[in-house]
Amino acid sequence: MAKHPVPHQKLCKGRSTRRYKSFANRTRKKLSDKTQVVTDCPSCGDKVLSHHLCESCGKYRGVQVINKEKESEKITTIKA
Ligand SMILES: [Zn+2]
Repeated sequence: MAKHPVPHQKLCKGRSTRRYKSFANRTRKKLSDKTQVVTDCPSCGDKVLSHHLCESCGKYRGVQVINKEKESEKITTIKA
């Protein structure tokens, strides 16, 4: 007797597809519900996820969290 549960037969292609599709539909529905939590930023008016930092102005509930004006230089070459 096997110690661990082992599948007796290989699942046919349709059964695996059905299981995957139900998972995909559930996930898609969860993500589509996320559209209801999009609000407008009070300072710049951009679309923001609620309880999240504004990507365009860097503010959260009127407090400056990230300084968007100060741009950091991207490192493209390694200076040795
Ligand atoms: Zn903003």
